[in-house]
Amino acid sequence: MERRKELELNLDEVRQAIAAHTERDVSLIVVTKTWPASDVSLLYGLGVTDVGENRDQEAGPKHDEVGIADLTWHCIGQLQTNKVKSVASWADVVHSVDRPKLVQALALATTSRPTPLKVLIQVNLDQQIDDQADADSVRGGAAPSQVAHLASAIAKIPTLELAGVMGVGPLGQDPEPAFQRLQAISHELIREHPNATWISAGMSQDFQVAVNYGATHLRIGSNVLGHRS
Ligand SMILES: *Cc1c(COP(=O)(O)O)cnc(C)c1O
Repeated sequence: MERRKELELNLDEVRQAIAAHTERDVSLIVVTKTWPASDVSLLYGLGVTDVGENRDQEAGPKHDEVGIADLTWHCIGQLQTNKVKSVASWADVVHSVDRPKLVQALALATTSRPTPLKVLIQVNLDQQIDDQADADSVRGGAAPSQVAHLASAIAKIPTLELAGVMGVGPLGQDPEPAFQRLQAISHELIREHPNATWISAGMSQDFQVAVNYGATHLRIGSNVLGHRS
């Protein structure tokens, strides 16, 4: 099948599944990691406004190759401080802020931005992360107990805009308690930071559950683009 047609059918299916699941207006971020710039252009032609990428080395060149000004690019991958400057050159939103060092690096990298960079605090949703001596799990994310501290650090930086929280459902486990926890963390955050309303949660396998627990932004890759090799 022609690629455009394939993407169109998949996209329709995903959009219908979301609409069937909620009456809220939930944003769809199509995760285009590993797929070529030509797919991003096709998706744009099909009405996609938001794309997600997880690797700076891949996303920077892809962003430049696509060259569409009104697409919103989301950085959803774990970030190293030495990549932050480059990420800030292509990303409109960074979902993966999980430690104070990253906040400082992002502050430095955005000093000359005309508009603030939107950032989300990635929360580690694995059970009992707070009990671990080393909270630096491979999947990233701040311990829930660190969210308030990170939020006030971000709020102090004029070139950063705290947009909300992000979470990745636990691998091979029931995502329900994790997304429920993320929603509770979001509610707490909003009390201190009323504009930080985003909940970025839900991927191809678990987006319905995330929607049930208030997800405002879904990050869906393989359901739209196919399985990554
Ligand atoms: C790859 C990725 C996604 C999309 O995953 P799919 O299962 O392909 O929908 C979402 N979020 C993050 C953080 C990812 O790395």
